[in-house]
Amino acid sequence: MNLTKAVKEKYKKPLASCTNEEIYISLLEQVKELAKEKETVSASKTTSKRKLYYISAEFLIGKLLSNNLINLGLYDEVKKELAAAGKSLAEIEELEPEPSLGNGGLGRLAACFVDSIATLGLNGDGVGLNYHYGLFKQVFDKKHLQQETPNPWIENESWLTKTETSYQVPFGGFTVTSRLYDLDVTGYDNHSTRLRLFDLESVDESIVKDGIDFDKTEIEKNLTLFLYPDDSDDKGRLLRVYQQYFMVSNAAQLILDECIARGSNLHDLADYAAVQINDTHPSMVIPELIRLLGQHGILMDEAISIVSKVCAYTNHTILAEALEKWPIAFLNKAVPQLMPIIRELDNRIRATVKDESTYIIQNGLVHMAHMDIHYGYSVNGVAYLHTEILKNTELNNFYKLYPERFNNKTNGITFRRWLMACNPELSALITSLIGEGWKKDAMELEKLGASISDPAVLTKLLHVKAEKKNQLVSYLKETQGLELNPDSIFDIQVKRLHEYKRQQMNALYVIHKYLEIKAGKIPKKPITVLFGAKAAPAYVIAKDIIHLILCLQELINNDPEVSPHLNVFMVENYNVTLAEKLIPACDISEQISLASKEASGTGNMKFMLNGALTLGTMDGANVEIAEPVGKDNIFTFGESSETVIARYERGDYKSKDWYEKDKDLKAAVDFIVGKEMMKIGQKENLERLYAELLNKDWFMTFPDFEDYVKTREEAYAAYTNRTEWAKKMLVNISKAGFFSSDRTIAQYNEEIWKLS
Ligand SMILES: *Cc1c(COP(=O)(O)O)cnc(C)c1O
Repeated sequence: MNLTKAVKEKYKKPLASCTNEEIYISLLEQVKELAKEKETVSASKTTSKRKLYYISAEFLIGKLLSNNLINLGLYDEVKKELAAAGKSLAEIEELEPEPSLGNGGLGRLAACFVDSIATLGLNGDGVGLNYHYGLFKQVFDKKHLQQETPNPWIENESWLTKTETSYQVPFGGFTVTSRLYDLDVTGYDNHSTRLRLFDLESVDESIVKDGIDFDKTEIEKNLTLFLYPDDSDDKGRLLRVYQQYFMVSNAAQLILDECIARGSNLHDLADYAAVQINDTHPSMVIPELIRLLGQHGILMDEAISIVSKVCAYTNHTILAEALEKWPIAFLNKAVPQLMPIIRELDNRIRATVKDESTYIIQNGLVHMAHMDIHYGYSVNGVAYLHTEILKNTELNNFYKLYPERFNNKTNGITFRRWLMACNPELSALITSLIGEGWKKDAMELEKLGASISDPAVLTKLLHVKAEKKNQLVSYLKETQGLELNPDSIFDIQVKRLHEYKRQQMNALYVIHKYLEIKAGKIPKKPITVLFGAKAAPAYVIAKDIIHLILCLQELINNDPEVSPHLNVFMVENYNVTLAEKLIPACDISEQISLASKEASGTGNMKFMLNGALTLGTMDGANVEIAEPVGKDNIFTFGESSETVIARYERGDYKSKDWYEKDKDLKAAVDFIVGKEMMKIGQKENLERLYAELLNKDWFMTFPDFEDYVKTREEAYAAYTNRTEWAKKMLVNISKAGFFSSDRTIAQYNEEIWKLS
């Protein structure tokens, strides 16, 4: 790429005289052009007849400029060219809006997956929706409460390319027209692929009123405005059904069109297409494909058999509320054409399977996951422990029917974004020690083990961490006005706000520490506790937990007795961009979900790769991190998943008993409604949270609290021995190779997609 020449042609002036805006637009155009070329090359090179369609309601892709420059091998060159003209790539990047097309882990996983699909040169696309305002932008108001505002990201010049593809999507009583937008996904040093995002031609941004409110019944105008609008009421939930069908009907029409164009007669569709159903949101693709095959003259028996060889399902959670079940009435209203097919699918199961708990339609509800398992050829969990729990507990009745369908694919992350792009300093250090090979074969990071006793390497590693902490300090000062102490332990918990992830337990620890400092017990090293999390707009307790943290931030940071030793911050609007700044600067990674509840987690992997040590429960992929690093290089605590599952089965958990027994815990819980907090916070929110913990504590923070405090203190003590700590960091980095999404995707391909 020659940027100087490109801006000369476009703006008739030298690079040094261009504004950052102008340079950004030129870069966008150039990179799009190059990605397109690669994509054409990949399309002509691919030999596999079978093509993957990874259908997902979310793709949390993050900013694309740096990532694409790295993948195209242009990053250093462009950075230098800009620097020579007195321009900064970092400043130009700030102009790029982040598309918020996902909630959290599940959407980010899908984004890592398309990166790896492109990098491995597989024949596959991601398919999803083009939400104009994404999820929402989080704002904290003066009362320390979360507010939601729209997050527009589509500008005149964006990564999207409008295509000629458009479909009719029939709903009960009306039909809408779609439009396909493509977004090129560059792979590292190899192919590129596409994200296929469907939009509604008649979408109308002007119906969004106050904050993120809009008329949920105006389907023809609102369908692609937001990601999963508020589902706390029936109107919101019905809209979600419309959205899901819009996504899968478009996907199914696209799949059949492309396969026919590539030579399929549709009877052999399974030779041409594999569909991965990412969580239950795209489940209606099963009946929709059957319906469309019917329109092509294929009879029900055969259509079912074809689709069952095409579709595979990934389960992402065992939380009951997330396994979607739609009322028949919703489906009858939104997609009446699918209901007879779903009934037929259910009747066939009823005729052959005794176990009623596996039926698709039960008590007027359609169980989407049940349909996926009966009529897909693969069911996978996303970490070893998660898949075991699915097989032995949650989906045991299905496992008994189809043991051969169940398999595990432990999640992964793309090292291009989560190391090369976000931490070039650490990447350079690694490369100086073991060469470039790790960038394509992440297992080569193991070679770092040879440097474990090299004091010069350990010193450099600590220097990189200190530098990333300084960078974060400046960034948060400039962008959010926060004042962090760079010479403190950075203890970070960033992820969606959910009770099972237990930010409330972390907050209780913060209160405990505050009370200790007030009582004169000063920590050896100052501590900075950072939170970042969005709460779903209708999730009341999650918003109360945010309120608690923001109140603690106000109280503690302004207390001259405490703030030299302890600070608390909640960054506003946690997203991929912030993750890329926070994770490289982290010392201690909080992964404290209640054992058995976090399917995998991927944040844990990003932190490990960047040399943070995990403080976590034996849950999700933490189990697979603990194994290779060994007990000296991770801080684990808390009850086991077996203990937790058994207690849920007995149904005899009483949080009050634990509260009465542990005086530190009692003091921390009581503090929530004490006079200091009441002065700063909202009575209603604090009292509600207090009552919830005392009378319910559904995710069992109290039984784990004592061990959590003890283990956290051990981690802080270990931090003070800098050489030993640096060794632990290096072990974590060297063992992170398994968590590359290139490994995950290679396994999906070998064991599920078989794209050749
Ligand atoms: C990785 C990531 C997540 C997932 O984090 P978990 O700790 O696995 O829940 C969520 N949001 C963003 C922005 C991420 O980058």
